[in-house]
Amino acid sequence: MSDIFPEMTVEQEKQWFAEQQEAHRVELERERIEIAQRKAVDHYIRCRDCGAFVQKWRWVRKDHPQAISQGWRPMCGSCFDNYDNYP
Ligand SMILES: [Zn+2]
Repeated sequence: MSDIFPEMTVEQEKQWFAEQQEAHRVELERERIEIAQRKAVDHYIRCRDCGAFVQKWRWVRKDHPQAISQGWRPMCGSCFDNYDNYP
């Protein structure tokens, strides 16, 4: 029997982990493609604090609900590091 999931056999447990890993891989790939397809015109692409161009994965969609209602903007890595907690 599985040590982790009492209702599973070891074989089922291995299968379960393989499925989680595959789902994670698919999710990362989907995210990679989504980021690659981003267009600057649809996004805020500069750091809200220093105005530097930020890495593509940090871009914020202009039509994102939080960007509209709360003024959510990207932040570059070095400005982000200036905060102990994300403000
Ligand atoms: Zn910055």
